[in-house]
Amino acid sequence: MWIIVTRKRLFSLILIILSISILLVTLQVLFKHSTIVSTDSNSNGYVILIIDDFGNHGDGTDEMIDLNIPITTAIMPFMPHSLSDAKAAHNANLEVILHLPMEPNVGKKEWLGPRGITCNLSDEDIKKIVYDGLNEVKYAVGINNHMGSKATQDKRVMKAILEVAKENNLFFVDSKTSPASVVLEMANNLNVPCFTRDVFLDGTKDINHISKQILRLGDIALKKGYAIGIGHVGVEGGKPTAKAIKSVYPSLVEKGVRFITITQLMEILQD
Ligand SMILES: [Zn+2]
Repeated sequence: MWIIVTRKRLFSLILIILSISILLVTLQVLFKHSTIVSTDSNSNGYVILIIDDFGNHGDGTDEMIDLNIPITTAIMPFMPHSLSDAKAAHNANLEVILHLPMEPNVGKKEWLGPRGITCNLSDEDIKKIVYDGLNEVKYAVGINNHMGSKATQDKRVMKAILEVAKENNLFFVDSKTSPASVVLEMANNLNVPCFTRDVFLDGTKDINHISKQILRLGDIALKKGYAIGIGHVGVEGGKPTAKAIKSVYPSLVEKGVRFITITQLMEILQD
């Protein structure tokens, strides 16, 4: 009798220990999962869309601002519509950054726009252009480069620009127009938050190509955690880019991709 009771007790004890173990393992798995996606349990990857070349009220400007998707608008300074485009983007609750014209290795001088940063300028002249640009493009929380394949390879030029970014608590996004860019290295030296473009979305009016590029961006985000795509208003994209974003957006959201700004990305990475 005594032995039977003990066996029963032993059996119950084993059952209890097993149940507790299963509960602990389950809790551990849940906890691990919640730390991987600590900021948003519905997201499997973040996409940041930067749209360049605002400031000229080029093709697709209104469509892009009306998308109701959190894009980052990169606005060229010293252009006829720099201030009005910046205001329109800001009023639509979109993130605004300064799209700084910088010297390319190849390309027409007029593509650079007024007061482009060329490598023959002094540090003081470079800084003056960045200060004036920031004054004009109100609400800018960061900077990225327009063209700039030559200037982003130049340590002295990048140091001058990034020092102004640091003074103003701005991040820098390297559009990566040169594989030999020193932007990330120089930004790290100065402790300026810096990000690099993963995919160029357009450079064409071909909506099928642009849609594929946005899907590719989504795939990179799902693998890497986040991905930065750059599109354009004006001749290099415009309305077809806005249309492609609008049509591809729901399928990416369904895959668990969340669209955020660079500021939100910095908050997520800090957590
Ligand atoms: Zn540009």
